[in-house]
Amino acid sequence: MKRSKRLISFLLCFAMVLGCCSLFSGAVNYEQQKNELNSLLASQKKELASLQNDLARAKKEVADQLVIIQLLYDEMNSYQNQLNTVVSLISEYTALAKAKEAEIQVLNAQIQKNFEYFKTRLVFAQESGNMSYIDFLLGSSDLSDIISRSEVINDMLEHDRKIIEDLTADKKAVEAAKAEVDAALKESKAKEAEYEAIVATLKEKKAEADALLETLQGNQKKAQAALNIVNAAKKKTEDEIDKINKKLAAMSASKPGPTGFIWPLPATSPGYITQKFHSGHSGLDIGVGGWVNNGKIPAISVAAGDVVRVGTYSDWGNLVVVDHGGGYLSYYAHLDSISVSLGQRVIQGQQVGKIGSTGQSTGPHLHLVIYAPDENGNFVRSDPEKFVIYPG
Ligand SMILES: [Zn+2]
Repeated sequence: MKRSKRLISFLLCFAMVLGCCSLFSGAVNYEQQKNELNSLLASQKKELASLQNDLARAKKEVADQLVIIQLLYDEMNSYQNQLNTVVSLISEYTALAKAKEAEIQVLNAQIQKNFEYFKTRLVFAQESGNMSYIDFLLGSSDLSDIISRSEVINDMLEHDRKIIEDLTADKKAVEAAKAEVDAALKESKAKEAEYEAIVATLKEKKAEADALLETLQGNQKKAQAALNIVNAAKKKTEDEIDKINKKLAAMSASKPGPTGFIWPLPATSPGYITQKFHSGHSGLDIGVGGWVNNGKIPAISVAAGDVVRVGTYSDWGNLVVVDHGGGYLSYYAHLDSISVSLGQRVIQGQQVGKIGSTGQSTGPHLHLVIYAPDENGNFVRSDPEKFVIYPG
């Protein structure tokens, strides 16, 4: 009968411990969550870095394309200017051609006139019978007359020759002028066509470049949007990590003990055990390194629970007691100051006060007492080291 009762109470206790395990699994979950969030953050950072690369590349492509387009514009403008020069040159040549045409008309009229005159002279020579230059000379009265007559002949010959020469020269001049104007017009027309072709090609190229630029700008926008999304996700993850870090900052990084309790000092300043639990000592003393740290190091709740006692006692000094349920209680004694109020719900790792040396104490330390159900189901002061593990 007694044996079965003990068995039942043992099972009850075991069940309570299990219950506590699940009750105090918050810290483990925080760490797990933090790890998960950190790995998420790492992947987001990696993705962000790759997206930043994408964006930089997209921006560079756009910038490069803008340079190309600007070059095309410059080239087009330069050709357009050259084309304008050619066009004004053509109008100059056209004016010149008109002037030359007028000149040619004058020359042609002169040629016509000279030719008619020459023809008249030939007709006159023919009409004056068979008279030759010799007959004319033989009709001279004396030598001076002969000289005089031969000079006349000479003059006449010279005159005829000059008329022919003039006619030839005028004809040549007209032909040269015509050729000159034709060549100039032909050249400037050719140039005009050439430049127009170049400008058309450049316009085509620019249209292509513009289309490409539009695509590239679209790519840049897409890259920026993708980056923004990941950036926002990263920010969210960082915020979540910050929140968890804030919670964890107040907690010990020490591994929770068998019931999920954590060390009652923060990981950054875990202190050191100065007196263990024994028959003459109801709890665990944790020193903080002398008076220099008095009132500076937080005492944190070993588990979530309700604050069931807050006060100042002659022996305990400033005391906080947290009820974790299932017969588990934790006492934080000799506190320099108290951070919680009676009836308050605290989470695991939450600061309950600052470690001090109030009450029956010779120096700043935390006196931690843990009440737990024993195998008979009685709630007794237990060795805290069975519940919390010193992280140092
Ligand atoms: Zn003590």
